[in-house]
Amino acid sequence: MMEKLSAEEFDLNYQGVLKRLKSAAEKSGRDISEITLLAATKTVDADTINYAIEKGITHIGENRVQELISKHGLLRPAHSHFIGHLQTNKVKDIIDKVEMIESVDSIRLANEISKQAQKRGIVMDVLLEINIGGEESKSGFAPEDAEKAVGEVAKLDGIRVKGLMAIPPATDLPEESRKYFREMYKLFIDIRGKNIDNSNMSVLSMGMSNDFDIAVEEGANLVRVGTSLFGRRI
Ligand SMILES: *Cc1c(COP(=O)(O)O)cnc(C)c1O
Repeated sequence: MMEKLSAEEFDLNYQGVLKRLKSAAEKSGRDISEITLLAATKTVDADTINYAIEKGITHIGENRVQELISKHGLLRPAHSHFIGHLQTNKVKDIIDKVEMIESVDSIRLANEISKQAQKRGIVMDVLLEINIGGEESKSGFAPEDAEKAVGEVAKLDGIRVKGLMAIPPATDLPEESRKYFREMYKLFIDIRGKNIDNSNMSVLSMGMSNDFDIAVEEGANLVRVGTSLFGRRI
């Protein structure tokens, strides 16, 4: 659960996040309008999420299936992404509740998304998750397998590859993430340059509360921010 957040606290947090985003965007020669701020809403109650949406948050992301389902019907309209590890057998539970799955970490999962999307006659946007730090504890494609994976997933019906997502190794020093963000950007640009059939590489999702400014400086155009907006999760 989260400590109850007042409207004033959220307003202040949100202003702070926008300020950081703006200055990071400027450092990378872009306008803040080119960066999507996604509010990571795990543990945040529906009323607070609705307040955030009312104040201007356009994109929200959940990382647990159960939590996504329990809040889904209570929320104001917003672009909803799934951002956590997704078990293949849960795809059917969220396929009609999100417009993007950012955390496709295996071909097997992509196949299931393709199957469930076709059943409903939709096309699901996805990002491929890259295990940029090569961590054993994390899922995701190895950077050297990313291009091949984009090619394979792009061939599937009912699914559209829109880009890449990554979570670099946890660290207390945000600057340490810079090299991973830089590698991700290079990978993203390389793959985009290959113009793989049926892929549309336009989204690079990286950066969280600790380091989203650095991610944006290094080329992210979607950041996923929880704590800096909603306060610490307890
Ligand atoms: C929780 C979460 C975030 C946001 O993390 P904060 O450090 O609270 O900003 C971003 N991405 C994913 C996948 C998450 O689960």
